[in-house]
Amino acid sequence: MKIIKTVKELRSELSNHRGERIGFVPTMGFLHAGHLSLVRACRSKADLTVVSVFVNPTQFGPNEDYDRYPRDEERDANMLASEGVDIMFVPQPSEIYPEGNATDITVNADMTKKLCAKTRPTHFDGVTNVVARLFCLIKPDMAFFGRKDAQQLAIIQRMAKDLLIGTEVIGCPIVREADGLALSSRNTYLTPKERVDALSISKSLLQAEKDVDSGMHAEQVRERIIQTIEQADGRVDYVEIVDPNTLEEIELLDGDYLIAVAAYFGKTRLIDNIARMNGECI
Ligand code: AMP
Repeated sequence: MKIIKTVKELRSELSNHRGERIGFVPTMGFLHAGHLSLVRACRSKADLTVVSVFVNPTQFGPNEDYDRYPRDEERDANMLASEGVDIMFVPQPSEIYPEGNATDITVNADMTKKLCAKTRPTHFDGVTNVVARLFCLIKPDMAFFGRKDAQQLAIIQRMAKDLLIGTEVIGCPIVREADGLALSSRNTYLTPKERVDALSISKSLLQAEKDVDSGMHAEQVRERIIQTIEQADGRVDYVEIVDPNTLEEIELLDGDYLIAVAAYFGKTRLIDNIARMNGECI
C-alpha cells in the first residue's frame, strides 16, 4: 500500500492507473469494521482502491469536536494495508484547502436543511466541499459511503448528479457491534454507562421496524422511539420518519421509509437509522 500525503504525489500516482476502475472510500480515520466494510465493497468492484483519511475541519462547527476527534494514522495504515488497499491518502488541511476556501459547493435542496442540519447548520457544506474536492482530484469511477450517515449519502448522491461528476455513489449497509450499537469513531467518547444507555437507539429502531410492520402510525412509532431513548438517559436531538431519497417527512408507512435518529449520551452525539428501500429493510 502506498501512503500518499500530497495532492501532487497523488495525481502523479493516479496517472499510472487511468483506464482502470478506480474506487474511492472517504473517511475521517480512526477506522473500525464499518469503514472496512466499505473498503471490502470497494475492493470487490474496483481495480484500484483509494482510501482517504482526513479529519475535515470545514465540516465541524465552532463548538464541535474537531480538536479531540480521535486520530491514529499508524493504526489506520496497518488496518488498510491488511485489507489490501492500494493507496491511503492522508493529506493535511493545507493540501485540500491550499488557498483557504473561496469556492463553496452547496447542495441547495430541502434535504440539506433537515435532520442533522438543524443542529449542525454548516456541516453538510463542509462535507460537500471536501467530497467534491476529493472527487475532482481522484476522479473515481465509484465511491462508497455508509448508510449510517443516510443524510450525507443522499446529499452526496444529489451533488454527484447535479455536477455531472460521473462517479457512481454507492451506499453500504450499517455495521453494528454484536449488541446492536452502530459502529462509530465517536463511540470511543462514551463512558461505560453511556455505552450501555446508547444501546437504546438501536433497540428502539428494531422495535420501530416491528411497529411499522404491525401497522402503527408514524407519529406513534416516533413517540415510542423517543420514549425508549429518554428512559435510557439519552437526550433526543431528532427522530424523523422520511422518504429515504428526498428526506421529505412521510406519514403513511406503506412504502419506502427512513427512520433516522440523533441523540446525545452525555456530551456525545450519536446517529443511527433503519430504512426500507425497494421493499427491503436495510
Ligand atoms: P467517517 O470516518 O465517520 O467520516 O465515516 C466514513 C465513512 O464510513 C462514511 O461513509 C460513513 O457513513 C461510513 N461509516 C461510518 N460508520 C459506519 C458503520 N457503522 N457502518 C457502515 N458505514 C459506516
